Formats: sequence, C-alpha cells, structure tokens
Amino acid sequence: MALVEDYKGVIKRYKRYLPVSRKTPVVTLQEGNTPLVYSPKISGRLGKNCRVYLKYEGLNPTGSFKDRGMTLAISKAAENKAKAVICASTGNTSASAAAYSHRANLKCIVLIPEGAIALGKLAQALIHKALVIAIRGNFDDALRLVREISLNYPVEVVNSINPYRIEGQKTASFEVCDSLKKPPDFHSLPVGNAGNITAYWKGYKEYFSYKKIYSLPCMLGFQAKGASPIVKGRPVEKPKTLATAIRIGNPASWEKAVEAKHESGGLIESVTDAQILSAYKFLACEGVFVEPASAASVAGLFKLAKEGFFEKKKSKEIIIVCTLTGHGLKDPQIAVKSIKPPLIVDADLRKILKIAKI
Ligand SMILES: *Cc1c(COP(=O)(O)O)cnc(C)c1O
Repeated sequence: MALVEDYKGVIKRYKRYLPVSRKTPVVTLQEGNTPLVYSPKISGRLGKNCRVYLKYEGLNPTGSFKDRGMTLAISKAAENKAKAVICASTGNTSASAAAYSHRANLKCIVLIPEGAIALGKLAQALIHKALVIAIRGNFDDALRLVREISLNYPVEVVNSINPYRIEGQKTASFEVCDSLKKPPDFHSLPVGNAGNITAYWKGYKEYFSYKKIYSLPCMLGFQAKGASPIVKGRPVEKPKTLATAIRIGNPASWEKAVEAKHESGGLIESVTDAQILSAYKFLACEGVFVEPASAASVAGLFKLAKEGFFEKKKSKEIIIVCTLTGHGLKDPQIAVKSIKPPLIVDADLRKILKIAKI
C-alpha cells in the first residue's frame, strides 16, 4: 500500500489500464482511494451469511464518484488543447466539472434543470466559476442541447457520453478488488444516466481479462420508481423522484447498462422514494451520511432481501459491495426536512437535563 503522501489520484495509480501517455497533463485533486467500509447493520439485515461493504464515494474531492471520470475527461481535454468543456447535469457532474476545469484553466459551461438540483451542488458549480445556465426543462432536455452544441461548436462534452468519463470511473471496481483481494459476489449501485454501472462492469471485466481476479460479480442496479425507464423498457417523459441525482428519463448508457445486467446475470429494478428515504436514514445509523440517490443501492438490497433473494444463495458467505455515490452534505435540505427539527429551550441547566434524561 502506498503511503498517503504518495497517493496522486486514480490516473497515476491505474495508468496502465487507462488511455493516457506521458504527454497527458494530469489534472487531479487526488480523487479515488475511497474507503470500503464494512457495515454490520446492513449485513445483519440481509442475512446471516451476508457481508456488506460500502464504497463511500462521497469522500471524493467534490463529494461524488464523478471525480474519477472527470480527472480523466479534463486531463484529456487539456491534452487536446480544448478551450472549453460543457455538460448537462443533475448536479454532481457540474460540481466536478467546475472544480477540475477551473483548476486546469478551462472554461466550463453547465446546463442544469431549473430548480431541480441540490443546493450544495449548485454552490460548487458557482464557486468554481462555471457558467451555470438553468434551463426550463429536465436533465434529458439539457443533455439533448449539450449533444447538439458539441456537434457544431468547439467544446468538449464531459458527460458520461465522453468515453474518458467511463474509463476513469472504472477505477472504482479496481479499488474494490484490490481492497477485498477478490471481486465481490454482488455489486449494488443506483442507476441514473447509467454511466456508472457501465463503468464498474467494464472495470471488473478488464481486471478479469488481466487475470487480476478470477470471477465476476453480479451487477444489481436500482432506479427510482418515478424515473425507471430501463425497468419499464421505455423512456419516461417526466421523471419524478426526490433523489435528484437519478431523476433521468432517457439514460445515455441505457444499452450498456442492460448489457451489464445480462452479462453479469444481474438485475435492474426500481425502488420507491419511501424505500430510498428509509435506507437513507438506515445508513445514518451506521455513521454514514449520503445523498438520497446513493441510498437507492441499499434500498434495493433491502427490497431483494425481503423477497428472500439472498437466502436462496447457498454459499457460506456472500460478499456484497454497495456504491454510495455522493455525500449527504450535498443535499442538507432533504436531511433537515425528513427528520424532526431540533428542540428550542431556554439556556437553563435544569431544563436541558430534563430533556436529555441524564
Ligand atoms: C451521477 C450520480 C448517480 C447516477 O450515476 P449514473 O452514472 O448517471 O447512473 C447516482 N448518484 C449520484 C450521487 C450521482 O451523482
């Protein structure tokens, strides 16, 4: 294991698996190398033979897994002498694009659905001086516009339709295998635009072909019920869910996600907002604070467990990795809204002791 001071981000660590050369000017904030936290409470709820590990991607520099792909997308944009980058975003892509492009002195243009991104993410895009344009429309409208602009104007798209994003993001599965010294049996994650499930599956398959691992996990993807085009098999015109990061009705990597499901013998299902919020609070009991979209991966596991999914597996031990995509501080308003507000009392010792029951 490298010393902490030696760690220079995912490109440096995994360069032999990435499309970079000595000429690539690496733009990094030392993303990646996120903890894989064992969760006794979630394991216990799934079954006696289950061991659940949380890949806590909220601890990336801008607070989401998007940084893994962005370090590569922005480094390659700089290598190709791009002047500007553009993205459509439900929030985290813009936060990450803004930070990395500001660092690289690239102009960054961001299209977001008006009123539909979490406050923390908007703050990030603004403080890093991206040109933020809120459109009257949803994410899918924003991505359509970005595609159109990129066809006719000299700007690089840094959405996950940019293959470098997927390449960077696949490093998360390398880390999981390196930490566990083997692949998990199941890998659960939320699905929005479907870039991440595509990237994880690509990473696992590559590690397998390089003989770094000798089996492959089964991929479990979860969409929010009101934004579940892949589950329904058709685009959703007006996607609805409180998990804004996965409020997407026509995912760009749709086919790749379905491929990951089929090839891995996995599934893509949906979970309700109520199930997402309940998993969100359950994760908090483990000391882990995530944004609602991230909790979809755990909500999905709870749903499967209730259907006896893991009991049917006869193996002695089932290793499950669950990607927690973004940090809870991104969307503090949801946390405050979903929990009782703090008590307000006089600055009086007796009253406080009485309330605290000590
Ligand atoms: C982007 C994002 C997702 C969805 O990932 P896709 O690659 O679009 O499927 C889920 N959760 C969070 C926090 C995100 O930022």
